[in-house]
Amino acid sequence: MTDYAFAPPPRPQVPVLGESAAFPVRRILCVGRNYAAHRREMGGDDREPPFFFAKPADAVVPPGGAVPYPGQTEDLHHEVELVVALGGGGSDLSPDKALDLVFGYGVGFDLTRRDLQAAAKAKGHPWDASKAFDASAPISALRRWAGPAPQGAIWAKVNGEIRQQAVVSDMIWNVAEIIAQASRLWRLDAGDLIFTGTPEGVGPVSRGDRVEGGVEGVGELAFSVA
Ligand code: MN
Repeated sequence: MTDYAFAPPPRPQVPVLGESAAFPVRRILCVGRNYAAHRREMGGDDREPPFFFAKPADAVVPPGGAVPYPGQTEDLHHEVELVVALGGGGSDLSPDKALDLVFGYGVGFDLTRRDLQAAAKAKGHPWDASKAFDASAPISALRRWAGPAPQGAIWAKVNGEIRQQAVVSDMIWNVAEIIAQASRLWRLDAGDLIFTGTPEGVGPVSRGDRVEGGVEGVGELAFSVA
């Protein structure tokens, strides 16, 4: 047993619907530009495939947690996303084996400091400051799931007004393909969360706004920006 120089911080966790034991978060991967209409609204090239970026595990905000308006931005954006939670791991997986790793699904927001992202893109700088900041990944409780991935409606509202509305089946890479692609770049393991990309309609949120999101059959999430 190793002694630590100081008490290690608690492991980030997400509740599981109907269960007392929580899902321990290991890593957070995110897919960029996985819906064609969102890729277009971001000025992307229709021929470019989706890609990955990451957030730190402690960026998760479980339901009921505080989501402060972050510093160093004047343009915080909502991106509602289906989140895949892995209960198993592996490398170099084929898409037909990939869904065996799924523990369940949740609904998350990939909060984005859009002004910092635009500046990073212009300079060819990394996205960490725009994507991987504290409390940048509010997430619902996870729903255990076996079988085909969710395909239904995905939506986001701000102060009761619909901002994003699409269907998960519009994703360019489906869930099995996302897991297989990610497993070529990283060894995946139980505890990993993968944010699968956002549909069109992203936009700003302000201090005091009420943000809600959902995925049909999976769940819903609501938080206020403090
Ligand atoms: Mn996103």
